[in-house]
Amino acid sequence: MSKDTLNRYLFDNADVRGQIVQLEKSYQEILAAHTYPAAIQGLLGELMAATSLLTATLKFDGDISVQVQGTGPVSLAVINGNNLQQLRGVSRWDGDIPADADIAQLMGQGHMVITLTPTNGERYQGVVALDKPTLAECLEQYFAQSEQLPTAIRLFANGKQAAGMLLQVLPGESDHNAEFEHLEQLTSTIKAEELFELDATEVLHRLYHQEEVRLFDPIDVTFSCTCSRERSGQALRTVAKAELDSILAEQGKIDMGCEYCNSNYSFDSIDVEALFNNAPTSDTQQ
Ligand SMILES: [Zn+2]
Repeated sequence: MSKDTLNRYLFDNADVRGQIVQLEKSYQEILAAHTYPAAIQGLLGELMAATSLLTATLKFDGDISVQVQGTGPVSLAVINGNNLQQLRGVSRWDGDIPADADIAQLMGQGHMVITLTPTNGERYQGVVALDKPTLAECLEQYFAQSEQLPTAIRLFANGKQAAGMLLQVLPGESDHNAEFEHLEQLTSTIKAEELFELDATEVLHRLYHQEEVRLFDPIDVTFSCTCSRERSGQALRTVAKAELDSILAEQGKIDMGCEYCNSNYSFDSIDVEALFNNAPTSDTQQ
């Protein structure tokens, strides 16, 4: 089956839309940057699926960031995405983490921050507490607060694959709660293994075989990092030149690593001089 796709669908006889996201390669690429404990692999996978689903509900071009922060062993986990379904992500943690740790054990007192940044328009930020047993329920809370549309979310990840489903009443159709509740009940029976193993057509047939469902063309989801030598150079220019010179004197070069993809951008004294003289630098990436 084709992995790393987002599928949208609509019910012909109900004002409800749905999405299925199934991830494998892009998920593995995000996990490859660090040796994450199993529980964090799961958290990042669920966040990836959540970000992809959220991105597909946006009505504008731009960037999205879904971030969880807390007082627990995991201080941060974040997935950044855009309307092209290009995702990257990273997590920071401290100490040993049990493989079966739940959200509360991972995050302690935590919250989820969702930032939507349209290419043209105002940035919007929504915050919800991580006070539910699952990330999916916290995200449902976000939709209840921000969009006030009945929304059901399912998220799964096992370190190899990540997947999720979203079911939502169409905007302006909030009177159709009975239909939604019926479809939500059907959707809630989906199991992780089914979303990992079946393609979208089979999932829809299994869940809604008595309904008329229209499935749209799948959209590819990819891992893509936005880091570059140029951006690293821009970051260096915000540091005092004297400080950079002292690192160069000590180490001969300055390494700028990207925590999302492990790329390393190396700047020697000539590169640094060029940065401060506003000239282009040599294009060496190591
Ligand atoms: Zn990168």
